[in-house]
Amino acid sequence: MSDLLEAYARVAGQDAVDQLQQLSAPMKGAKFVHVNSTRVGGGVAEILMKMVPLMNELGIDTSWEVITGEDKFYQCTKSMHNALQGDQVHISEDLLKAYEETNSRNADLLRPALENADYVIIHDPQPAPLLKLCPNRKGKWVWRCHIDASNPHPPVWNYLSGYVQDYDASFFSLADFAQQLPHTQYLIPPSIDPLSDKNMELSQAEIDSTYEEFNLDPKRPIMLQVSRYDRFKDPLGVIEAYKLTKQSIPEIQLVLAGGGATDDPEGEEVLKEVRGSAGKDTDIHILLLPSDAHKTINALQRVSDIVLQKSLKEGFGLTVTEAMWKGKPVIGGNTGGIRLQIINHHTGFLVDSPQGAALRIQQLLQDPEKLREMGIQAKEYVRENFLNTRHLREILSLFTALDNKSKNIIKPS
Ligand code: UDP
Repeated sequence: MSDLLEAYARVAGQDAVDQLQQLSAPMKGAKFVHVNSTRVGGGVAEILMKMVPLMNELGIDTSWEVITGEDKFYQCTKSMHNALQGDQVHISEDLLKAYEETNSRNADLLRPALENADYVIIHDPQPAPLLKLCPNRKGKWVWRCHIDASNPHPPVWNYLSGYVQDYDASFFSLADFAQQLPHTQYLIPPSIDPLSDKNMELSQAEIDSTYEEFNLDPKRPIMLQVSRYDRFKDPLGVIEAYKLTKQSIPEIQLVLAGGGATDDPEGEEVLKEVRGSAGKDTDIHILLLPSDAHKTINALQRVSDIVLQKSLKEGFGLTVTEAMWKGKPVIGGNTGGIRLQIINHHTGFLVDSPQGAALRIQQLLQDPEKLREMGIQAKEYVRENFLNTRHLREILSLFTALDNKSKNIIKPS
């Protein structure tokens, strides 16, 4: 077994790696392509960055393609994203035209690789039209929706489903997100990579240097939210929770760590609102990190006492998983994929308001034993459910099922 697979076996267990080897054996040498719309920033890029090398390590010839477009394309896809999460947005004909033309242009570039692939996963709405644009495809194509699509704005979903319905299957993170579609839908939650810079163990020196780098006081409690500057992540609600907490715990410090995703045009505006709300409070640290600041985020999650993810909508919330993996209880918005990860009162707390968040922050800071206990439970919960070995096992199982559609029983070799 390779060094990499041995390293996974040490963290996730030998069984997890044995299963991957068994499932990937019939796919050795097969061409597998993932397509999304950004190489950095956001959860999909985070997953693919480590999933693709692991798949190659298992002998599957895997590549990762990224479609690109102009402003109007990203405006359109951001509106689609917001509409799938329930916003009643109208998307103009002009923007939809940009969406279709951008996909058409990208299809011209990607067609040879995509039509030749044995397996394709198209991530999220941005590249969804590619299937229709590759009429001579020979492989199995699956659409992966990472978004909380539990209550999509109907006109936008109707438009998008025109592209999605022809896929061989689709998969979502939660049963709540499944849609009316003419093919089988699977439930596969995302995952983190325990060996990545974002999640690996760090030396004490690396952790300690974070205090100095960001001017944080190690003797005072720190609360953290890591997120793109996006309204659905509710950074203003986090600041409100911090201000409420400060009334009873004046020494509290808040870190909001974020950066941009290349496919997210709204970030700057939200960042401005966040800065406005923070005002001149020197205990609020608003960080704009480069896209490769994985170790920095890792260290920030480790120096924090409490991590928040106060999202109003959340497909999954990898930031929740990452913090839990570091033994931190997370106080998370009672929504979407956060509910899958935070077992209320056990691996963290689910909250519905800034007031609720402030209450739980105070409760945990005043009860260090409970904080520690919840953190331990959180880490074990991630080990059992949300590592990328489980994630890849389920993806390979999905394609195995598609490859063997006519069989009642599939016997692994
Ligand atoms: N992230 C990052 N830098 C940032 C903000 C976020 O590296 O400035 C990472 C974060 O650690 C996580 C991912 O981006 O791995 C965000 O995934 P999540 O599922 O939480 O949210 P999304 O951005 O996909 O909505």
